[in-house]
Amino acid sequence: MDWDAIRREYTEDADSIDKAFKIHTAVMERVRRLQIPPADTLLSPRGVISALPYDLLAGVLGEVWAELMGGEPGVDLEKALRVFAADEPFPEEGHDALEELPMFLRAAVTGYLTLLREKSHVPQEAGTGAGTCPFCGTHPRMAFDSETSRELACLLCKKQWRFQRIGCPFCGNDNHETLGYFDVEGFEGVRVQYCSECKHYLKVFDTRKRAVRDAETEDVLSLGLDAAAEEEGYL
Ligand SMILES: [Zn+2]
Ligand SMILES: [Zn+2]
Repeated sequence: MDWDAIRREYTEDADSIDKAFKIHTAVMERVRRLQIPPADTLLSPRGVISALPYDLLAGVLGEVWAELMGGEPGVDLEKALRVFAADEPFPEEGHDALEELPMFLRAAVTGYLTLLREKSHVPQEAGTGAGTCPFCGTHPRMAFDSETSRELACLLCKKQWRFQRIGCPFCGNDNHETLGYFDVEGFEGVRVQYCSECKHYLKVFDTRKRAVRDAETEDVLSLGLDAAAEEEGYL
């Protein structure tokens, strides 16, 4: 994660970014100390998500919360972690009031999953052509194009894998008449691919036109495209 690039892009949000940086650093420091067994015995995609040690991660978050925020978050952290990892909407009560909670959850889930994937030696070619992450089963939100190929990127475990240039990873649609792109002013070398069949979108980064950083950083730097896509009614 290139925090300096994010600070330069969102100068007016310096306080929030600083907070996110501190949370991320403190959570990662503790997650790295956990015993992380390789996941090769682990199940199918989505199985990885359901087999995460949520109780351990909740314990980690409770400690970091007390250290950085003081006291307790007042929500069931284990339940919140499960909801976050499954990409389900948060139940209303309690969660909305806490601006910092998603920062904690994201740091713990992505930190653990990334270390788990690195330990599990997923073959480079694993998942070629798949519409969901071959390691954790999550739907990708981003793609990186080079001269000859496209790679999808998972934001939870940071796996990248090859995918067809014309295609929707959500529904498998490969009809160029119902797939399209639009640009957003102020964003260079990245555009939104949308699918009229299933209404999902993907942010596509052109590595020939943009000095692309890691997926996590690029995701944050291109939040304006998510806003534009959602405004157009895409999911
Ligand atoms: Zn993944
Ligand atoms: Zn689709």
